[in-house]
Amino acid sequence: MKLQQITKSNNDILEHCVEKLARINQSDYALGFLVDDELNTHNVNLESRVVIAPDMLFEPIKNQLTKDLTDYFMDKDCMVTPYFYDKAIDQVDDGLLSNKYIDNLRYIPIGESENIYAIIVLVNIALSFHSQKLIDVNPFLLATITLLKNQKKRLTLPPCGLVENKLNTSSDNQSKLILESLLTNTFHPAFIFNDEFKVLKSNLAAQSLFNSNLERGWPSIEKLVNRTLPSIAFRLLTVITKFFFLGHLEKQQWSNVKLVLNEHQSIHVDIHLFDVNYLNSHCFGLMINEKTEVSINQEIYNASVQRFNALTSVVPMAILQTDKNFNCSYSNQTWAKYTGQNEEQSLEQGWLSSINNLNANELQLEIIRSISHSNNYKGEIELVSLVERNLWVSINVVGLFNDRFEVTGFIFTMMDISAERTHSKKLQKMANYDHLTGLSNRAFFTDRLTFALARVPRHGISALMFLDLDRFKNINDTLGHHVGDLVIQEVAKRLKSVVRDEDSIARLGGDEFAIIFTDLMTESVIAPIANKIVSAVNLPFKIEGKSMVLSCSVGVAIATEHNVQPSDILRKADLALYEAKDAGRNQFCFYEAGFEKDLSLLNYLTTDLNNLTQSGFSFVLQPLMQAQTKNIMGFEVLARWSNAELGVISPDIFILAMEENGLIQAFSEWLFYQVIVQVKSWIEQDLLVHPQKISLNLSVKQLHLVEFSDSVIALFKKEKIDPSWFTLEVTETAFIQDPTIAGENLRKLKEAGFLIALDDFGTGYSSLGLLRQMPLNYIKIDKSFVMDILRDNEAEKIVLAIIGLGKMLELGLVAEGVEDIETKDWLIEQGCLCHQGYYFHKPLAQSNACELLKQYKVSKH
Ligand code: C2E
Ligand code: CA
Ligand code: CA
Repeated sequence: MKLQQITKSNNDILEHCVEKLARINQSDYALGFLVDDELNTHNVNLESRVVIAPDMLFEPIKNQLTKDLTDYFMDKDCMVTPYFYDKAIDQVDDGLLSNKYIDNLRYIPIGESENIYAIIVLVNIALSFHSQKLIDVNPFLLATITLLKNQKKRLTLPPCGLVENKLNTSSDNQSKLILESLLTNTFHPAFIFNDEFKVLKSNLAAQSLFNSNLERGWPSIEKLVNRTLPSIAFRLLTVITKFFFLGHLEKQQWSNVKLVLNEHQSIHVDIHLFDVNYLNSHCFGLMINEKTEVSINQEIYNASVQRFNALTSVVPMAILQTDKNFNCSYSNQTWAKYTGQNEEQSLEQGWLSSINNLNANELQLEIIRSISHSNNYKGEIELVSLVERNLWVSINVVGLFNDRFEVTGFIFTMMDISAERTHSKKLQKMANYDHLTGLSNRAFFTDRLTFALARVPRHGISALMFLDLDRFKNINDTLGHHVGDLVIQEVAKRLKSVVRDEDSIARLGGDEFAIIFTDLMTESVIAPIANKIVSAVNLPFKIEGKSMVLSCSVGVAIATEHNVQPSDILRKADLALYEAKDAGRNQFCFYEAGFEKDLSLLNYLTTDLNNLTQSGFSFVLQPLMQAQTKNIMGFEVLARWSNAELGVISPDIFILAMEENGLIQAFSEWLFYQVIVQVKSWIEQDLLVHPQKISLNLSVKQLHLVEFSDSVIALFKKEKIDPSWFTLEVTETAFIQDPTIAGENLRKLKEAGFLIALDDFGTGYSSLGLLRQMPLNYIKIDKSFVMDILRDNEAEKIVLAIIGLGKMLELGLVAEGVEDIETKDWLIEQGCLCHQGYYFHKPLAQSNACELLKQYKVSKH
């Protein structure tokens, strides 16, 4: 075989020709294969007028067809002679194409004597003209493969035909050759003529229809058309004339036209006109399609049903056809094999009895829904077999539609997938275990929990324990994951040794374990078990020669009543675990109803924070007074939250909750903005005057954010308000936990003009060193001492010490929690003159604070 390069232009030519030829022939299928010297086929799947997009072809079948075609043609030295099989002419003895609906098949090898470079397969099936609504192409192609195989066995191929004109390699000549070859093999009379209406090429069918041939000389197409197609001659010729103005053919097809053969004979035909490039010039093709029968709808329908039956009988899958109400009209052999139902039993609604455990109604609804969306339903169902074991099938349903695109029925195909399912069950089982410890994993654990809860209270009570290793992350981080894994394995072993066999332990991931206890007679047994677990984990570990001591925290929740939901007990155990950790770890904790509050608090908090404008957040202002002169030195801003359902919540609680849940920064940004708006208006009204200050509380968490000071400074800048109107109150803790970031933040803030106050002084470390390091302006003596100075000697001593310290460090002093005149006077005596407390004012609503400032302004003038 000669070397034959497959080029893009080859491909294009072939594609062009096949497309044209398929259209002319009205072939139901047209497939073109380019073949290279390696005998690889390059499948150019082409669509004929009615065919199905290539991507609808089932891949394995497509590949098989390609292979068989190659086998069939490629072991011959030469196969230029086409093979044509026509039902009407050929007597086929071996039941080839047992389906009688295939009219004819044509395999057209294209090439020169020693060389094949393409194969085209054209397939016409009976009633092709009406077969637009072909059901499924795949069974049909399957039949084609069978045919091809059998033909290969049967036929002795004809010897090589001599090709009249040797090909040169130019693509024009290739194109001419292909076109001629295709024309020769067309089933219908066809001509190629030029713009002078001269016939350049005709095929055998045309010659026999008009009893003429080139040797005898064709009349011009103009004459031929005028004589034989009088009803459309004028229009047809005008179309051709207009082509040269328009650049395209206007009308290409005329149906049911009378063709006058002679004075006595006429037939009805369809006429197709097309343009074609022949011998490098623009030419036209005329194709005549004899109408052998007029469509009779019912007959066509019946025939197509029969065709469908024939094709589906060879396919190894169950196939059912139903109408739109799921009345079965057809079932194939495989269905009978799968279910044991014969065709009669399956008819109408009979087939539905083979569908197991599924609400058939639901399935039908589901199918209708899917078909209306995507014309396809896919699923898996179990079929009941009358004779053998039941089997699982994958089910695929497509809709059948009428001309108006209304669903008229469905085609079901089903494939036995029982084997796959057994396999996947095994996999599923494997998936239920944690590989590291051999314990159940989360998936299996959830099943077990449901099971355990269902046994309550008939078999006793059930308990759920959540266990979490304390500071396990440190082990992973410092000793590596493999040590972490060994620790987890060891913990699993210890847990197993503590609990009974019937209790199930699961590893939920990382260092989290859960244990389910069932059928317990009394609650009192649980605490000792929990205790044992905590102690077992507490025993020293020896891992890779290293000793280490671990601890764990355990949360316990108990189900004593019927109908406890898994999600409910899971939440409770989780809350209890959280509580155990909070209480210092290395212990267990039973769930208590009180734990729930935190959770709901957080819910409410998040909801309100998501809608700050309508939430119950606000702030009040508590005046700071010069105790002797009663001058207003400023206000401290205190946040308030009054939730629609929870009522008023103390800032001690909600600020902590915000801090713990990362919500504080967002809240504080909102609050600062509100305060700025208020302060600006006071400044404008001359109600707030220097050196009065507004104090804002900062949370420890905020001071640990690297960007914190920048964001505050940016906000005040944006709002065009001078930071020197404000004092920021911070606590020592911020500084102790992370002196670098907190210190940096404070320094920047102080530089920007804010004053810094140390809040709650005396309650923390009260370290002198710290006081020196922090960029402070003054300290606030905590109210717990202030309120006690007159009753408690210790408190008095502490306050005196703080006052001394402040003076020594040249820091300003504020006493908070001044509730009575005696305390006020005592503080004045000690030289602490700035007071904040109920004695002067309780925290005031904004309007009241405003009122106070107004009166104060008046009193000053
Ligand atoms: P704090 O900063 O020490 O605020 C002073 C608290 O003492 C306020 O409680 C105030 O109402 C109260 N107080 C003032 N004078 C007296 C008095 O004479 N007697 C008594 N018994 N109490 C007095 P409040 O408003 O409940 O605030 C509690 C804490 O909540 C504040 O303590 C502060 O740590 C925090 N907080 C309030 N608002 C904010 C805020 O906007 N941001 C941050 N981060 N924390 C805030
Ligand atoms: Ca404060
Ligand atoms: Ca305070």
